[in-house]
Amino acid sequence: MSFSSLGLSEAIVRAVAERGYTEPTPIQLKAIPAVLSGGDLLAGAQTGTGKTAGFVLPILQRLTTTQPVHPAPAGRRRIRTLILTPTRELAAQVEESVRDYSKHVQVSSTTVFGGVNINPQIDRLRRGVDILVATPGRLLDHAQQRTVDLSGVEVLVLDEADRMLDMGFIHDIKRVLKLLPARRQNLLFSATFSDEIKALADGLLDKPAMIEVARRNTTAELVQQRVIEVDRGRKRELLSHLIGSNNWFQVLVFTRTKHGANRLAEQLVKDGIPALAIHGNKSQSARTRALAEFKTGKLQALVATDIAARGLDIVDLPHVVNFDLPNVPEDYVHRIGRTGRAGATGEALSLLSSDERGFMRDIERLINRQVPRERIAGYEPDPNARNEPEVDDRPPRQGRGGGRPASRSGPAAGRPAGQGGGRPAGQAAPGAARQPAQAVRTGPTSRSFGGSNAAGFRSRAPRSVR
Ligand code: AMP
Repeated sequence: MSFSSLGLSEAIVRAVAERGYTEPTPIQLKAIPAVLSGGDLLAGAQTGTGKTAGFVLPILQRLTTTQPVHPAPAGRRRIRTLILTPTRELAAQVEESVRDYSKHVQVSSTTVFGGVNINPQIDRLRRGVDILVATPGRLLDHAQQRTVDLSGVEVLVLDEADRMLDMGFIHDIKRVLKLLPARRQNLLFSATFSDEIKALADGLLDKPAMIEVARRNTTAELVQQRVIEVDRGRKRELLSHLIGSNNWFQVLVFTRTKHGANRLAEQLVKDGIPALAIHGNKSQSARTRALAEFKTGKLQALVATDIAARGLDIVDLPHVVNFDLPNVPEDYVHRIGRTGRAGATGEALSLLSSDERGFMRDIERLINRQVPRERIAGYEPDPNARNEPEVDDRPPRQGRGGGRPASRSGPAAGRPAGQGGGRPAGQAAPGAARQPAQAVRTGPTSRSFGGSNAAGFRSRAPRSVR
């Protein structure tokens, strides 16, 4: 099946071909016709499946082949499509995709998100755009200042809606909805389906088409998952050793806390591994710079918290490391989804200290498989070691699948020994040869969109484009 046979114009198909895509991904095969039909859509797909093109391409088709439903006075341009995203990074990436796919058609786009000067955004909005990609908070700032007009919106996309709810945006979303015309097409994309998402979908969508694609990282069989047991205090040393002795490049490392991310990045640098931390306390420009350096290969390791990493689109990322296990099991799925994307193979490595075994059990229950434990010679856990959890520096989040509240954490302890055991990049540790990677193929998840946890979800599906 080709893009042109899905009903997209030659100019759009050409842009897609220039981007190097030869055929649609499963979500695109289902979403493109559904969106072109003009009805509402509820899509279960996570980042890495190609969902962005799944909604952007048919929206471009619509905007280039139809007249505005609510034309602006005096022929001015009005926003016809609003795409809401949870994070600035995702907003920037989605809009980059919009620009890429629209390069041969007359469609303009821009982003508005917080953390940057509002004035250039006001100027850009005043000149008029067809597609606006926004985070909810900054969009409402513009609405309050009357620098954005949403009364011409024909298509609304909620991208990564589950994460928007996780981040507490439900009230902002409801306020945005009040600013939109009642008659419009609504597209809701979410990786997971909690009761809150179902409630949001119920209120928002009218007889939605429902589509679902397998989580890339649980069924694509492209991500090798490994768990290495190690004491918390030796994780940093082991990580430096693994990066150095295997000469890994582009390693995305997850920590649970911002402080942990900062500390680890500093320690990796001391070990000779170019690294930076990326998290919510960093300015937008610092985050953008870190991401750019990481993408070009200047930075060997990027240390990130879950929220900061959400939506990062780094193509062919070869290594994801869980330095700390997430206390919300779904975050594990999101994290390892950063590798093995769009057909590339990748490795997801978790460094597991004894205090995190409960988290790993929750994760294994969620992904419905057991990931075998390994030990690395010279880094075996000491049965007498005190492994205590990292203290959370963010408010507890509601886990959707048995995630433990952050309050479970005890006092900060188990700081890495910092004895300089890590080795500079590219320098193998003598006598500490890497154990052969156990290629663990991932299996189907028990939390699939239409599976047992989606109780009540299918029953209200008026039509399906499965
Ligand atoms: P997304 O899920 O939208 O974040 O996309 C994940 C990655 O897949 C991005 O790097 C896209 O550029 C890439 N991608 C999207 N569609 C295709 C396709 N049809 N073929 C190959 N790669 C794609």
